[in-house]
Amino acid sequence: MDLPGKPDLVFGPKKKAIFVHGCFWHQHCDPACKIARLPKSRQEYWKPKLQRNVARDLEHQRSLKGSGWHVLTIWECQTKDVEALAGRIQKFLNG
Ligand SMILES: [Zn+2]
Repeated sequence: MDLPGKPDLVFGPKKKAIFVHGCFWHQHCDPACKIARLPKSRQEYWKPKLQRNVARDLEHQRSLKGSGWHVLTIWECQTKDVEALAGRIQKFLNG
């Protein structure tokens, strides 16, 4: 199945898709996230590059939702708490 943004997990019959995003490359916008922070040097290089990734992610999600998909994004920093993560995924798939 060729879906916008190539979600990491796809549950076709339920029309549910899960993205697992690296906090840095996809710029996790949670202020508590330490991984997403930009390096102090070469910000003029990183900023536009990463902003393009974020814009692309939004675009993919919009087009998925537009065609009736439910989308869950899991961030790298959230994968450490496996139990909480499993709960979220279960809720997403059953909900
Ligand atoms: Zn994060």
